Amino acid sequence: MKKIAIVGSGVMGRGIAYAASLNDYEVHINDVNPEALREAKTYIEKELNKSAEKNFIHPEDVIRSMNNLTFSTDLKDCVEEAELVIEAVLEKMDLKVKIFKELDDLSSPSTILATNTSTMSPTEIGAQTSRPDKVIAMHFFNPVHKMKLIELIKGLDTSQETVDKVKEIGSQMKKETVEVNEFPGFVTSRMNCLIGNEAMNLLMEGVASAEDIDKAMKLGLNHPMGPLELADLVGLDSRLRNMEYLYQTLGEKYRPCPLLIKYVKAGKLGKKTGTGFYQYE
Ligand code: NAD
Repeated sequence: MKKIAIVGSGVMGRGIAYAASLNDYEVHINDVNPEALREAKTYIEKELNKSAEKNFIHPEDVIRSMNNLTFSTDLKDCVEEAELVIEAVLEKMDLKVKIFKELDDLSSPSTILATNTSTMSPTEIGAQTSRPDKVIAMHFFNPVHKMKLIELIKGLDTSQETVDKVKEIGSQMKKETVEVNEFPGFVTSRMNCLIGNEAMNLLMEGVASAEDIDKAMKLGLNHPMGPLELADLVGLDSRLRNMEYLYQTLGEKYRPCPLLIKYVKAGKLGKKTGTGFYQYE
């Protein structure tokens, strides 16, 4: 069985772990926070059970997937003999660079190192390692077990062999892939952040309620989810970090909406804190 290591067991790390373990990878998931690892385990088991109840998977898949998973705070153990490591920690360049330097030291020279960044440069991250040809961005979407796409972003030195290998792994995880040449925000985050920011500007200007902005986008423009609901799902702190990076790299068009900044300052981070543009149980 092939091994994948995941660094960071938050919203995305746990989702990627779910998809990889269900599709027959031995998955080792690492976090600095033991509580985050406990929560990730509970989340994955609950989501697998929900899928089994809805007959999307067999009850035996739940047991098999859970047996494929190992949770650990020891990074060295996690990455040993992994063919791929996927980093899914916070969207902060200095943190990602620090982790990639550690991964470069701890993993086998043949291991591919991928980042799940939403906006940032795999070239910049890869340049800090001794294997920039084996560094790539694999941008998964939330919730990972329901979303079909992985956006693959090639850095300046990423080899075609690396792209082909992660495509193959993506396909084993039953995902579709698109190949993108590196530019801040890639295709999806660049478009999505702009739509979300405009929805927040509309709300701030009192043009319509959150419910009506989302309803207009769903029923008028056929979006499966409203942009404000989606921002709440992503986490408003994560969205603000993405906007700040795009503003810094691409300019004025991406200036974060003041209402988004205000919500983050108030600790209203969306679904994960129970309040954002909407209230949650
Ligand atoms: P999150 O805050 O939910 O989880 C981050 C996890 O990383 C936490 O559990 C934290 O304890 C852990 N962590 C922090 N430092 C660490 C370290 N040194 N070693 C190991 N673990 C560490 O974040 P998230 O929403 O899952 O986002 C992770 C990445 O995925 C970000 O780069 C984000 O931009 C990207 N992303 C997020 C979404 C989304 O919808 N949330 C979608 C696509 C991509």
